[in-house]
Amino acid sequence: MVSKKKALEIIDVMETLFPDAHCELNFKNEFELVLAVLLSAQTTDKSVNKLTQTLFEKYKCPEDYIKVPLSELEQDVKTIGLYRNKAKNIQALSQILLDKYDGVVPSTFEELVKLPGVGRKTANVVLSVGFGVPRIAVDTHVERISKRLDFAKKDDTVLEVENRLMKLIPENRWSKAHHLMIFFGRYHCTAKNPKCETCPLFDACKEGKKLIKK
Ligand code: SF4
Repeated sequence: MVSKKKALEIIDVMETLFPDAHCELNFKNEFELVLAVLLSAQTTDKSVNKLTQTLFEKYKCPEDYIKVPLSELEQDVKTIGLYRNKAKNIQALSQILLDKYDGVVPSTFEELVKLPGVGRKTANVVLSVGFGVPRIAVDTHVERISKRLDFAKKDDTVLEVENRLMKLIPENRWSKAHHLMIFFGRYHCTAKNPKCETCPLFDACKEGKKLIKK
């Protein structure tokens, strides 16, 4: 496992590579952000942005989502994976926002994770990106990068990875580090064919040496 000092050096290298790392989902308010993150499960941000370009034109607020039949909403989101489940969750979530929160997205982790379709990762993204609360959301990229670079153990659960990252990285860098790891995982240390040959972290990465031998 890396030391705190080494972890920060690695994050600094990622920041040199991707100084502009940020949330790539398009949204105009916290409600659209929750929906975009919910829709992004097992789908690329690119497909979600393509979909929400029209979806967010048709539906502006929670009321709009519940006044159409579920079948209509399903048709409107059918270009992405798991669309039936996502449409069902969007309607249920919109109803709860109206019933319990005056149509406004709540800003605590405990309230967010109780919303349909909102798990730990989504709640952390919404808190970090929507409300500016320091959090580290562990998605597939963050988990893979953490394990490859020894920020976490290979058999750690997602929650264990999150806890290790929060201990290794100072709180004021959590949100940016999360985006840096996503960009690094999405565009450099990809799941298949990572760019080990040109990687500035190669010397610090045991995994890279193993991958290059294959
Ligand atoms: Fe990823 Fe390869 Fe770089 Fe290691 S050396 S961080 S596996 S790209």
